[in-house]
Order: sequence, then C-alpha cells, then structure tokens
Amino acid sequence: MLSKSQYVKGCQCPKALWFSLNRKDLTPPVDVTKQAIFNAGNQVGDWAKKYFPDGVEITVPFYKTDEGADATHAFVAAGNTVIFEATAIHTQDATHARIDILRKVPGTDTWDMIEVKGSTGVKDYHYDDMAFQYRVFTGAGFQINRCHMMLIDNKYERQGDVDPQQLFKLEDITALVLAKQSDVNDMIPSLHATLACTDEPQAKIGSRCFKPFDCDYIAHCWNGVPDYSIYNVLTGKKADEVVQSLGSYEVKRLPAHLIPKGTKGKDVQSYVSGQVEFNPDKIREFLATLQYPLYYLDYETIASAVPIFEGTRPFQTIPFQFSLHIEETPGAKLKHREFLHKERSDPRPAFIDALICLCGTDGTIIVYNQPFEKGVNEKLMLDYPQHAVAISAINARMIDLLVPFKNRWLYHPDQHSSASIKRVLPAHVLGLSYEGLNISNGQDASQKYLDFILNKTAPEKVHELWAGLEEYCGLDTFAMKALIDVLRGKIAV
Ligand code: SF4
Repeated sequence: MLSKSQYVKGCQCPKALWFSLNRKDLTPPVDVTKQAIFNAGNQVGDWAKKYFPDGVEITVPFYKTDEGADATHAFVAAGNTVIFEATAIHTQDATHARIDILRKVPGTDTWDMIEVKGSTGVKDYHYDDMAFQYRVFTGAGFQINRCHMMLIDNKYERQGDVDPQQLFKLEDITALVLAKQSDVNDMIPSLHATLACTDEPQAKIGSRCFKPFDCDYIAHCWNGVPDYSIYNVLTGKKADEVVQSLGSYEVKRLPAHLIPKGTKGKDVQSYVSGQVEFNPDKIREFLATLQYPLYYLDYETIASAVPIFEGTRPFQTIPFQFSLHIEETPGAKLKHREFLHKERSDPRPAFIDALICLCGTDGTIIVYNQPFEKGVNEKLMLDYPQHAVAISAINARMIDLLVPFKNRWLYHPDQHSSASIKRVLPAHVLGLSYEGLNISNGQDASQKYLDFILNKTAPEKVHELWAGLEEYCGLDTFAMKALIDVLRGKIAV
C-alpha cells in the first residue's frame, strides 16, 4: 500500500508512480546531484538526532513496515518520549509512513510530529509530505498535537563544536497540514487505483515533469521532444497550453504573437534562420574595456548545511580552488596558475594568499558570472578584514564575460536559449567541451571535494580527485580565453 514517497511521486505524476513500480528498468542510476542530496540529508538527519539526546531510533529497514510499526508501539509502551524514524500504518487503508521524529507532549497522551529538512525554509511540497504523514499517524491511532518542520537556521555561526540546539529551528506548520487533509483524502484512492493498474497510465509531459523535482523518467517520456523546443522558449503552464493547442513541440510552429520579446525572441529568430546573431558594436565596446594583462579566473566552492569550519554559517560558500590563465599581451602564450587546497582544513587563508599573489595589481580579471566570484570575495573581505583592501582591488578589476552572451551580443542557435558556459563553449568553439571529463560540472566538483573534507574519499582515489578538479577548473578559464578570441574574431571580419 501507498508510502509517503509514493504519495509524493504520485502527486507529481501518476505515471511516475506507476513506472516506479512496474518499469524499474527506466529508473536512472543515482547521479552526483542526487547523491549529494542524499548525503546532505543524512548528515543533517544525524545532527537532528543530537538535538534530542534522549531519543531512541527504529532501526529496522524502511521497507519492513510492519516490523517498524511494531517497534514503534514497543517504544511507546516502554515510555519513550522521543522516537526517531517512528513508523505507522493506517488501520483502514494500510497507507504507511515514517516520521523523522515523534515527540511526546509532556503530561499528555499526544505527540508532536517533526520532519527534518536540510533547507532554511518550508517548501510547498513539505506540506504535502507532512499532510500525508499526519493522516497516516492519526489513522493509526496516534493523537497528534502539532506538526513541525525542523529546518536549518542560517543565522547560526559555528564556534567550536557544532551546537545542534542552535543549528536547527522548529517551524509549526500544523494549520496548513490540517487544511490539506481533504486533498490527501481525495488523492489516496486515485493513487491506489494507479498502483493496482496493469496498464501504463496516460499523463502528458509538461511543466509537471520538473516540479517539485526533476522526474526520474524525463529521458524516457521526453524522448520524442526536439532538443530545442517550445519548452526552451516558454515556461510553466503557458508552455503546456501552447504545446497542447498547437499539438507540437516545434519552435517553428510558434505563431508570431506567441514569440516572446527580448532575448528569447532573438533566440527563436536565430533558430529559425539557423544563423549566428551578433552585435559588432556591443562586442567592440565590451572588448575595449579589457586592459592587459588579462587574467581569466574561476572559483570552485563548497557549501554545507552543517558548517564545517570555525566561524562559518550554514550554506556559506567556501572557496577551495581557483584556476587562472594569464594573457600578458595580445597574442602572448597563455600562462596557467592555479590553487587547490589539498588538506582537510579551512581552505580560505591559503586561498586568499594565493589569489592576492597570483592576480597581480594591474589588468582586467575576466570571470564568467561575476556576481558569484565577487560575492565570494565580499564574504572573504568580511571574514578576513586584514585582506579587505587587496581583495577589494581584485573585485574592482573584474569584468563579466557572461554579459555578451546573456545579452545575446553573440548567440549561436546551438546555445538553445542558454548563456551557460557549458552551452556557449561547444556552440562557438569546435572541439572544446566539458563532455567526457572526470568532473564535468561545479556541483560534481563541490560534492567530491566535500567528500574529501569529510574524510569520505578513499585514499587511493585522492590523486584522481586532484587531477579531475584541476582539469575541470582549468578548462573553465581556458574556455574563457577561447570565447574572448571568438568575440575578437567577430569584430575582425
Ligand atoms: S517525465 Fe513527466 S510525464 Fe513522464 S512520468 Fe515523469 S512527470 Fe510523468
């Protein structure tokens, strides 16, 4: 019978629920992004248990629901007042759920339900989660007093050991959970019917496939959709309606009045004509702001829900690596410099020293998406005020290479309405892309470095990690130089 995770999946799409049971061959392997979410969830969950030092834990595997429910009753009968992973089964329809923490209200026979999340605020789908859990626990005979989300308090600053009492905050969501009970009651019979169905249910693809999560079956269901479709041009329900009314995903079928204005409109024009669009005046203006020597700079960072280093806050961005390509004069051979902190300690002091030393004092510093590097530097200035003048001087020299691409001063149809360097690079520079790298995106870099810091990387894998990080970050800055050459080429013709 229906579990909480099945309920959440079925609310997003009945077909996804059906696939999860009947087409396990379609379920993709856990990728880096998902693994990062699991790891972060486990880490936060472990700290949440330390918030309640008297708690007892149900340790039977999650799929042994009957045993979990029996163990929960045994803990209750034994007079325990805080139970982790408490399990319940609804007496009428056998829906079942686990709650992260079940806490007895002192002096009563009632309980509070507490669900732990590694985020700083409540998200819409958290209410659905908890509404289902509330229905199951009350249907199993528990008297529920309040429903709380246990969230990360981003005002907490680590001093010494992590203090779980300060790391978390509790938010009461009882009123919304109660308000959602009729929705849950309405939804459950239809999801039970889906589970019992032998044929694949019908469900149209659309914005639902990405909300609240990217569905596991996108590769399967979106197989026939062109790489560049109406969903790249329009968003949400609007895109669903247009696709529905046209009976097509094809951008070329969009009537003129539905083509957006601004950059998206230019993208459609470029796609239809197959032509690269460029604005030589704007590109010339941009390039005229560059002053030699040119420094192409890129950071890699980590951000952990539970602060790792002294004086840091939850989700604070901590830089651990940079790559720097230096072009001293026009056409000069590129020099490459880099920094990668290879110890399990706070990387920031050594990062700052290397940054100030290698960036010199003159010339333009080129980054891709300036608010990120600038924002990291601004936080470094606050935390290391003795370096504020030097870091501020680096920020003052920064120029954002994203700007010409974001504003479509140069646009290739293969960018597919994106200005991300991962899309821009292969569209404009043949033979240069991130495909095939051991580490091929920032999230991957971040997760793997976080594993190293938390001592989860096998010793024999550490050298592979350094090589992967250096190759990836180095390509980011090499790519920037290649893109500057592309811009130069556009105004030379
Ligand atoms: S990809 Fe979309 S249509 Fe397919 S199962 Fe997932 S949510 Fe449903």
